[in-house]
Amino acid sequence: MIVIGGGPAGLFCAAEAAGSGQAVLLLEKMPSCGRKLLITGSGQCNLTHGGNISDFFSKYGDHGVFLQSCLRKCTNRDLVAWFTSRGVPLAPDESGKIFPKSRMASDVLSVLLAECREKGVEIRCSESVKEVRRSGKGFFIRTGKTEYESGSLVIATGGSSYPLTGSSGDGFSLAASLGHRIAPIAPALVPIRVGDYPFADLAGISFDGLGFFLFRDGRRIREARGDLLFTHTGLSGPGILHLSRYILPGDTLKISFLPGLTDEILKKDVVTRIASSGTKQVKSILSGYALPGRFIARILELLGIPADLTGAHLPKKARDELIRHLSAYPFPVLGPGDWNEAMVTRGGVSLDEVDPDTMESLLIPRLYCIGEVLDIDGDTGGYNLQAAFSTARAAARDLAPG
Ligand SMILES: Cc1cc2nc3c(=O)[nH]c(=O)nc-3n(C[C@H](O)[C@H](O)[C@H](O)COP(=O)(O)OP(=O)(O)OC[C@H]3O[C@@H](n4cnc5c(N)ncnc54)[C@H](O)[C@@H]3O)c2cc1C
Repeated sequence: MIVIGGGPAGLFCAAEAAGSGQAVLLLEKMPSCGRKLLITGSGQCNLTHGGNISDFFSKYGDHGVFLQSCLRKCTNRDLVAWFTSRGVPLAPDESGKIFPKSRMASDVLSVLLAECREKGVEIRCSESVKEVRRSGKGFFIRTGKTEYESGSLVIATGGSSYPLTGSSGDGFSLAASLGHRIAPIAPALVPIRVGDYPFADLAGISFDGLGFFLFRDGRRIREARGDLLFTHTGLSGPGILHLSRYILPGDTLKISFLPGLTDEILKKDVVTRIASSGTKQVKSILSGYALPGRFIARILELLGIPADLTGAHLPKKARDELIRHLSAYPFPVLGPGDWNEAMVTRGGVSLDEVDPDTMESLLIPRLYCIGEVLDIDGDTGGYNLQAAFSTARAAARDLAPG
């Protein structure tokens, strides 16, 4: 069998299939395998997440249902056991994310490569697959260097994000050339670019547990809670990355910087604070809300409220505007960031043409699609690597002889 792509999905599938007696050739386009894996979790590799595997199902948007079978057969606990038994112990952090204890993604890659070596997988790097076709023996594969025939073919080419790592979307055209439908792709887990962005110089300031309200054509279509990070060009942080899956250019994202306080409650609260300390400057009164001072100063500046204005002198109209900016600041969405910023790809090989138990194509026998080339994107927290490993094992088990 031939595996195209030496990322976590391709390497794990190749090793597991070879371990069950298959002769496996893995073709990798880059001079070395696993380049994206090396940068996961800022080089520390958040491999999976703690908890029950059933907690994972809701972490893949609408596509968690497809993954249920293979996640159950290759769980987070199975992965922890697999890596630990091969000399890479894993441990959770305080939020439940699971990393190698060494915090080195290179340890994860090394053990995958060692397993491939030990099980006899032949890996050929700098060999980019350019064309795949059905042939008498199964599949004809043409690379930049030569041609192959194989009875089984696994497409494990990843998505389109961080193209310099080698994952530049080739698998979508390869699968499409074999007749598969590709759900439209877009960058996901990505910062959001917004219009009229006044916080560029506040880049690096972060907020915990804010309220996000997404509006399309004037209608509220989604609500979420999460952390926010101002960047030089827009909005990021875990809460924004998760929401990016649902965001389209033209949407408006309203952010409550004081979540839990409705307009009404906030108004009462501000009025009370001004009444009891009207001689204080507005910015001092607002500092009671545990918001960063530079952010408060910027909001006042945007509203044209003088920095030294006291609460007693704040006009009602300005007060109401201030409350609106804190409880529902409207950011016009220009769109998601580009492929160089996205952690994963939304869209891919359409799931209704793939067997959820085995990852085998429902159109072409002995063709398998695994990992991020599938129309699957998970939340941050180790869910994408877990999906890559679980889909890889499902294919490897199906490919096992007998
Ligand atoms: C910055 C960053 C941080 C991330 N951090 C995490 C994290 O901490 N936890 C987590 O769960 N997920 C994380 N992800 C997502 C995760 O890395 C991917 O979901 C995962 O690597 C997908 O695995 P894969 O094997 O399907 O594809 P990839 O890892 O993309 O591997 C695909 C391989 O196929 C090769 N290839 C492509 N085309 C061809 C071709 N034509 N011929 C031959 N070879 C080809 C590529 O060179 C590549 O080596 C992160 C992503 C990024 C970008």
